[in-house]
Amino acid sequence: VVSLKDEIVLVTQILNAAKIDFEGVNHFKLTNVNLLTENILGMCLKEAVTNIVKHSGATICSISIEQTWKEIIMTVKDNGTFKEPCESEVKGSGLAGMKERLEFVNGSLEILKNKGTTLIIRVPNDVK
Ligand code: ATP
Ligand code: MG
Repeated sequence: VVSLKDEIVLVTQILNAAKIDFEGVNHFKLTNVNLLTENILGMCLKEAVTNIVKHSGATICSISIEQTWKEIIMTVKDNGTFKEPCESEVKGSGLAGMKERLEFVNGSLEILKNKGTTLIIRVPNDVK
């Protein structure tokens, strides 16, 4: 099991190898987060960054993780271009897998496609 902190170290290495500048996650501190939630956030982060490296053509990736009284919000943003997958292509399972896992913990995934791609991942704090 890789913690979210460790996963961030791994994705910064992946971005570094792909020559994509990394911004963010300076001060993130999560309190009372269960292991399943942390795991799912880590998996989402890894998939989001893998997609940036594979598809975006970005030069910058920024990641932020915030916790409010009600939820954890992880944002992964790039300055590339979202590539709408064409019908003929075999559908990827990364984003679908993310959504599916987030559903386990009543979380959600929002994708903004404007000036690059932004993934907004939310998970409530009160997961049993
Ligand atoms: P897999 O994740 O199963 O290896 P995949 O990466 O193609 O395959 P998804 O992760 O579900 O599949 O992504 C679906 C599609 O959305 C991608 O094929 C790509 O066209 C587009 N996409 C996803 N993330 C980005 C991004 N950050 N920038 C540009 N395009 C993206
Ligand atoms: Mg993918």
